[in-house]
Amino acid sequence: MPELPEVETVRQQLKPLLIGKKIISVSVRYNKIIKIPLNKFKEQLKNQTFRDISRYGKYLFFELDDFTLVSHLRMEGKYFLRKTMKDLTKHDHIVFHLDNDLLLTYHDVRKFGTMELVKKGKEYLLDSIKKLGPEVNDEHLKAEDIYQKIKVSSRAIKSILLDQTVMTGLGNIYVDETLFLAKIHPETKGNALTFEDVESILFSAKKVIKKAISLGGTTIRTYQSILGVDGRFQNELNVHTLVGKPCSVCQEKIIKIKVGGRGTYLCPNCQQKESL
Ligand SMILES: [Zn+2]
Repeated sequence: MPELPEVETVRQQLKPLLIGKKIISVSVRYNKIIKIPLNKFKEQLKNQTFRDISRYGKYLFFELDDFTLVSHLRMEGKYFLRKTMKDLTKHDHIVFHLDNDLLLTYHDVRKFGTMELVKKGKEYLLDSIKKLGPEVNDEHLKAEDIYQKIKVSSRAIKSILLDQTVMTGLGNIYVDETLFLAKIHPETKGNALTFEDVESILFSAKKVIKKAISLGGTTIRTYQSILGVDGRFQNELNVHTLVGKPCSVCQEKIIKIKVGGRGTYLCPNCQQKESL
C-alpha cells in the first residue's frame, strides 16, 4: 500500500510531466472511484491545465486552473502516461486525454482509490482532509502538539498512529519501523507513554519518513511509482516483513503479532512489553 513517502515520490515524478499540460477530455471506465456526479467531474475538468501538484498526508492534490483534483491511491492506485487507448490495460479506470496527445491514466487493481474535485483552495475543507492531524514530516510539528491527544487514549500506540487524526503520514510499514527505533512495544497504550516516549516516537517517525522519501519509498509486493521505478527503502527496514530474521541491534529474532487487526513486526527484546 502506498504510504506518505511513496505518494510523495509519485508527486515528484508526475509534476514535471504534467505541469502546463491541458486536459482535453476525461473517460471514466469505472465510476465508483469518482466521488462527485460523473457529468460534473468530466465537464469541470475539460480545458483545465495542471498548475501544480501538492500533497497532504497520503492525498495528492492536482491543482488545475479553477479546481483541485484530490486523489487517494488507497491500496494499489497508480498513475501512468500512455500513448494511445490501445495501450490501456483493464485496470486503467480513469483516462485523462492531454493536449500533448498523451493519456494520463489512473490504474487500480483493487479499485479502492478515490477522486474528488473541489474548487481550488477548498481542498482543506473536504471531510476526508479536515479530520487529518498535522503531517509527521511538518518541520514545525513538535511532541507537545501530539502528546495531549496520545496521553488520553487507552488504545495501543500502533493503532493511534495508524488512525491519522493525531498525526498523518504513517501507515503500517513506517509505524513498525518508527516504534522499533523508539524502542516502544506497539501494544503500549497511549496513556502509558511518557512525554519522553512521545518525543522519541516523533523523532523516530521523522527520521524514518525523511529517509524513505529520499529513497523513493518502499517496494513491497506490487507498489511501484509511476515510471516503474522501485523505491529502495525496503533495504533499510529493521523489522517490517522480517519475521524470524535477527534484530540489527541485539540479534534477537523479529516476531510478528497482530495489533488492532494489523500485522505488526517488532523485536521482543528491544521493544519490551514491561513498559505497558
Ligand atoms: Zn532487538
